[in-house]
Amino acid sequence: MKAEQQSLFEMNPAPWDQDDAREQLVATLIFSRGPQQPFDYRVPDRLRGEISPGQRVRAPLGKSDRLVTAYCVRLASSMSGAPLKEVDSLVDRQSLLSPAMLRLTEWMAEHYMCPWGQVIEAVVPSGVRAQAGTRQTQFVSLPNRAHARLVHMKLTPTQQRIVDYLAGRAAPSPIVQVARAAGCTVGPIQTLQKKGIVEFELRRFDSSPIEDSPAATEAHLELNSDQRLALDAIATALDSRAHSTILMHGVTGSGKTEVYIHAIQEVVRFGRQAIVLVPEISLTPQTEARFRSRFGNVAVLHSHQTDAQRRRHWEQIAAAGVSVVVGARSAVFAPTPNLGLIVLDEEHENTFKQDTAPRYNARDVALERARAEAIPLVLGSATPSLESWQRTVTGEYRLVSLPRRVFDRPLPQVITVDLRVESRDRRSRGAISRQLQLGMDAALKAGGQVILLLNRRGYSTHIQCPGCGLVMRCPHCAIGLTHHVHGDQAICHYCDYQVPAPTECPECQFAGIHYRGLGTQRLEAEVRARFSGYRCLRMDTDTMKKPGSHERALSAFRDGEVRILVGTQMIAKGLDFPNVTLVGVVNADTALHLPDFRAAERTFQLVTQVAGRTGRGEKGGRVLVQTFSPDHPAIMAAVRHDFAMFAAGELPARKKYEYPPFGSMIRLVVRGPAEPVAAEFANQIATRLRAALDKAGLHSRVLGPAPAPIAKLRGNFRFQIQLQGGDGAALRQAVRDATDTLKPPELVQWIADVDPVDML
Ligand code: ADP
Ligand code: ZN
Repeated sequence: MKAEQQSLFEMNPAPWDQDDAREQLVATLIFSRGPQQPFDYRVPDRLRGEISPGQRVRAPLGKSDRLVTAYCVRLASSMSGAPLKEVDSLVDRQSLLSPAMLRLTEWMAEHYMCPWGQVIEAVVPSGVRAQAGTRQTQFVSLPNRAHARLVHMKLTPTQQRIVDYLAGRAAPSPIVQVARAAGCTVGPIQTLQKKGIVEFELRRFDSSPIEDSPAATEAHLELNSDQRLALDAIATALDSRAHSTILMHGVTGSGKTEVYIHAIQEVVRFGRQAIVLVPEISLTPQTEARFRSRFGNVAVLHSHQTDAQRRRHWEQIAAAGVSVVVGARSAVFAPTPNLGLIVLDEEHENTFKQDTAPRYNARDVALERARAEAIPLVLGSATPSLESWQRTVTGEYRLVSLPRRVFDRPLPQVITVDLRVESRDRRSRGAISRQLQLGMDAALKAGGQVILLLNRRGYSTHIQCPGCGLVMRCPHCAIGLTHHVHGDQAICHYCDYQVPAPTECPECQFAGIHYRGLGTQRLEAEVRARFSGYRCLRMDTDTMKKPGSHERALSAFRDGEVRILVGTQMIAKGLDFPNVTLVGVVNADTALHLPDFRAAERTFQLVTQVAGRTGRGEKGGRVLVQTFSPDHPAIMAAVRHDFAMFAAGELPARKKYEYPPFGSMIRLVVRGPAEPVAAEFANQIATRLRAALDKAGLHSRVLGPAPAPIAKLRGNFRFQIQLQGGDGAALRQAVRDATDTLKPPELVQWIADVDPVDML
């Protein structure tokens, strides 16, 4: 299987040119639904020269020979006389995937243990497959042989106008266009077709208008010396015409984006394209604007686009019509014909990982694509993932550093506020400590702006009866409900289950139910009460539901109308507002104690990133971090802006337990509505996994099954099994061996998450 797959596309040129009588052209097809394994079909002579890998075809499947759509992934000539079914017809006129992209999808299928057909459907946007924004219509042409016949015919004036119009066109025209040009209905054109003068052909055409992107406006910045060194490293990599990965570790505000822009200018100058991947394009409108202002033809891909928009961008990119593609994770699949560089900004972000199948990480897919296309990959972050950092240690990646902010602006001073002391002396009540209150007063009086981060939405995050101790929980998930003041509802943050907030205990009818725990709504109320003279705005997924609300909120903050911005991690990243002189982290510990081996890393990243939102202007800035764990290594390193210190402390712990980056990991989650049934199936998988690993003589760990940290979700009980070991391919093989012939009981489902980031 392995050897065969590797030779998939090393097809000799034009096998159909060889005229051996027994020779047949064989297409290997992958079905996107139904059977997962590839099937060989004979290509009938009429399709020779038309069919190519990456196209969709229709082919008979099963006993009934039902015609089903499939992807042609390979063409080869074969001498064997084994009878094969025949490909029926082509769906696409052109290939949807280049040979390189087909190989990438094949790699993803193997690496993420996802059926190849499903990977392809995830890579080619549905709008492209459905040809959204195009319509099928009759195209009319005047064939050459018609001219001879026309000499002997008498045409009406309308017919003459139609013929004249078509005679002047090289390509067929949509019928409505011909009718408009001739000033008639489609009737006379159809008459001409019946007489055999003009010909019809069904074709698709773009029925939605092209939006144009604004022209580039010059805004050239001279790079400082650190930036120049970073650019030199990338330029060297570009010149080498070979793949290499560069990790750019630059503190917040060090000018990383500016380096990307200069590097891309190099790439574009040579007529090649660049892909820039960002965590969430709609959260960073500033990034989009910066690229648009530097490069004329930028395609932006994001999740809020219509199918038709996405299809148009895709086609424009495939036709080499854009120089730069900026987008979220799926933009890694942009069909750039001559890719020169991939940049992945904020490479540590979770959002690069897709949480539905195929569960790919755009960072790792970008690496694979850059390798295959022999181009550099640039990863950038102020807080690199330990996975990437470790690869600079081993020499796989090249490290370049931007240790200073632009114009030598100092990094903000970070001070911890020990909440243990605060809560002991009970002088301050509420979410804002005395120290934070004083800091905010001073910053606001001096004309500055304040950002307050709290990574929990809602009003009260804990609803409990003091009489009987009952905690209000979601009936479908093992999760406490959060009180939201809007509509006075108790809401499950996992499945959106809602009930009116109870005034008395549903269990013991006690009338004084407690609403505790701090969410952004309550924080906002407290800020409004304490700082009534200043406008405050809250940004979280509850307030940012409407399209455009994000840009409106950020522009109100930029204009200085809003002085205090309260929000979840949504406001922690990427924003560049010079007038922010104070950042308050209301509770740095929210992620610190989660059952996730990356909990410390996440905390370090979040605090460092939000701290980076201040001190970006001439006024400087300060950060106050409220925490119950001021001595935790992650918090201490964030206070010192010291990534190397954090990494040095954390890596040995990862190594000890063979966690990434020192081992590969696969997480299996089994879920089902009946707890014992799901548990038993998880047990069965774990037993088989252990046996498979033993048989292969592998030293790997199988943890579990155990109830997942979120033990129940949307009515399903969840169990997890964790596989860890040095050799990722061997782990995947063990999962295949253990599960290939295994059928889950009814209503039980299971998934394998390779290189997981979500451990809940
Ligand atoms: P990062 O991506 O590292 O957070 P940015 O590239 O966004 O940093 O740069 C931060 C700010 O500094 C931006 O406003 C940018 O325009 C500005 N900047 C970056 N490099 C330079 C430079 N060489 N000269 C002047 N301003 C710069
Ligand atoms: Zn729920």
